[in-house]
Amino acid sequence: MDRRRRGLRYPLWCDLLRSGIVAPAVWRGAGRSYIPKETGKGVLDASYMEDCLQAALRRWGRSAHRLLQVLRELQEACGYLPSRSLEAVAGELGLPLAEVRGVASFYAFLATEPVGAYRVLFSDSITDRMQGSHGLMDQLCSRLWVEPGKVSDDGLVSVSTTSCTGLCDQGPAALINGRAVARLDTARMHQISDLILARRPMHEWPAELYTVEDSIHRTDVLLGHRTAPGAAISAARNRDVAAPGGMIAELTRAKLRGRGGAGFPTGAKWAACAAAPGPDRCIVCNADEGEPGTFKDRVLLARYADLVIEGMTVAGIAVGAALGLIYLRGEYRFLLEPLEATLVRRREQGLLGARIGAAGGATFDVEIHLGAGSYICGEESALLESLEGRRGIPRNRPPYPVTHGYLGRPTVVDNVETLCAAALIAERGGQWYASIGTEASAGTKILSVAGDCARRGLYEFPFGVSVRAVLEAAGGNEAIAVQVGGPSGTCIGADEFDRSISFEDLATGGAFTIFDRHRDLFEVARNYTRFFAHESCGFCTPCRVGTSLLAQVMDKIHDGHGTHHEIAELHSLSAALGKGAHCGLGHTAMNPVRDTLLRFAPCYERRLASTDFAPAFDLDAALASARRMTGRDDPAAHLEGDG
Ligand code: SF4
Repeated sequence: MDRRRRGLRYPLWCDLLRSGIVAPAVWRGAGRSYIPKETGKGVLDASYMEDCLQAALRRWGRSAHRLLQVLRELQEACGYLPSRSLEAVAGELGLPLAEVRGVASFYAFLATEPVGAYRVLFSDSITDRMQGSHGLMDQLCSRLWVEPGKVSDDGLVSVSTTSCTGLCDQGPAALINGRAVARLDTARMHQISDLILARRPMHEWPAELYTVEDSIHRTDVLLGHRTAPGAAISAARNRDVAAPGGMIAELTRAKLRGRGGAGFPTGAKWAACAAAPGPDRCIVCNADEGEPGTFKDRVLLARYADLVIEGMTVAGIAVGAALGLIYLRGEYRFLLEPLEATLVRRREQGLLGARIGAAGGATFDVEIHLGAGSYICGEESALLESLEGRRGIPRNRPPYPVTHGYLGRPTVVDNVETLCAAALIAERGGQWYASIGTEASAGTKILSVAGDCARRGLYEFPFGVSVRAVLEAAGGNEAIAVQVGGPSGTCIGADEFDRSISFEDLATGGAFTIFDRHRDLFEVARNYTRFFAHESCGFCTPCRVGTSLLAQVMDKIHDGHGTHHEIAELHSLSAALGKGAHCGLGHTAMNPVRDTLLRFAPCYERRLASTDFAPAFDLDAALASARRMTGRDDPAAHLEGDG
C-alpha cells in the first residue's frame, strides 16, 4: 500500500528505536523479539533466540520426538524461525537439518520467514465468510497499510487467513499472535488496529477481546453430568477388581463407538491395546478437532476438563497405561494454561500421578502437546507422527496404533467426547448407556451447530435425533441445506431433514452447519475444496494433485469459464481421489462437490458458460504483446484465424 498516496505518515520502527522512543523490550512484550534493521523488516536477536531455545530444551528435553514442541515454543517466543534457529535446533537435538526444515515447513503456524510483530490470521471457514470476515480483513489491512499475505514495511504487522479456528459459533474470528479473538465486527477492527498502531503489548489488550464464550443450548447425560472428580476412576478400579477386564467389558456392553466420526467400537480398541505385547502403553486424547464447523471439543476442554482427564485415567487403568497425552490443536492455544492448571490440581488431589486415588492405585499422568496448524493431524496416525515430532503424514496401516502407536508402544487414540463418555460409563454402567440412543448408535451426540440459525452453540441429543428436530431447537427455520459432519461429511437438502444423526444414517464428528436460502451452495462447496487443497499433506500424488485440480476447476466454473466438460472433470477427479488417495482426507475431499452437484445442480448450471469446452487460459490474448512487437495483427496472427 502506498502510504504517501493516503497522506499518512507512518514512522519506520527503526526510527522509533533510534530515537529511543521504543526499546526492543517492547517487541518482547508483544510476544515477539524483533530488533529491526534498516529495511524496516525484523531480524532476530541472536542471544535472545539462544535463551529461548535453551528454555524450550529445558522444558521439553533434547529428544528428537520433542522437535515440534521445541520449534513451536521457539516460534512463540521469537515470532518466526530463521534459518540459524533451525540449525541450532538441529544441533541440539542431533537431527539432520533437512528434517528440522521439513517439520518447520509442514505446519501452518510455524514461519521460516519473518512475520509481523502482530501476526493476524483470519479464520477462513465458510461460516466466517458468511459473517463478513473478508470485509473485516480488508478493513483492518486498510487501516494498518498492509496487503493481505504480506508483512508491512516496518515489520509491525502481517495479515492473512488460516483454516477454521473452531469458533464458528462466534465468528468472524481471528488468531492474533496465536490468541483467539472472536465476535469480530467493525468496532473491534478499529479497536484492534488502534492497539496495534499504538504497539500495545498483547497482555495489555482489554481482556474482553480474548473472551471465548461456551454456548450450551441443550444438555443430556454428558453435558448435564454430575460426576464428582475421582468417582469414575474409583468405579473403573472397582470393576477391574471385581473381574479382571471388567471396565473394558462394561465399555463393550455400553456399545460405545468413537465420537470422532468413524465410529470404531471403543471397547474393542481398548481390549486390543490391553492385549498387545509390550510395556509402556499410552492413552492419547485427540483434541485436534480441525473439521471446519466443529467446536464441541473446545467447549469440553474448557468446561469439562475434569471429565476428559477422568476418561483418560479410566482408559489408563483399563489398558494398563501410565502415560496420557493430550494433543491440543494449535488454534486452542488459549486452553493450554487452564488445562495445565487442571492437571496440577488433579495431581494435588491424588487423581493423577503415582498411586491414583488410594494406596495401591495405578500410576497415570498426562502431558499436553500443542499442534501447530495442520488439519491432517486429526487423523490418528498423522497425529502420532506429530506427537513424535515429525511431519503429520498418515502412516501405512497395519500395524495399527493399538499395537504400534506412540513411539511404537501400544496406544489408544480416542476423541475428547469418547473419553468423556467412557468416564460416565465407568460410573453408571454399560447397560444404562446402551439404553440411550439407537440400536447401532448408543448414547448421545454433541453437535456443534453453526451457520444460519438463531442459536449457535452446542446441542447434546440422544443418537437418532432427526435433522429437523435439531434445526427446530436451534432456530434454523429457513434452512435449505445442512452440512452434517463438516466438509468430509454429507450435505443434505430440505427434503432429507427427517434423516437421523446416527452411525446408521448421518454419521458425524459433530459439525452441523446450516445454510438458508440466501446461501449459494456452489460457493460453500468451493470454499471446502480450497480447504482440502490447502490441507492436503502432499504425501500422495492423487490427493496432492487431485485436490488442487478440484479447486482449480471450481474456480474456473466460478469465473464463468465452466462447461459440461468441467462437470465431467469433477466426476473423474472424484473417482481418482476415491481410488488412489492414501487417507481419509483424499477419500472425502470430493464429498462437498459430489453432494452439491447431486442436490443443488442449478447452482452449477447457471454458472456454465456453454456446453462446449472453454479454456481457462486465453492463449490468443496472451500473445497480444508478441503481435505488437512484430507489428502483426492480421487474422493469421490470431489463433482463431488458424482454426
Ligand atoms: Fe496426505 Fe492427502 Fe495423501 Fe492423505 S490423501 S496422505 S492428506 S496427500
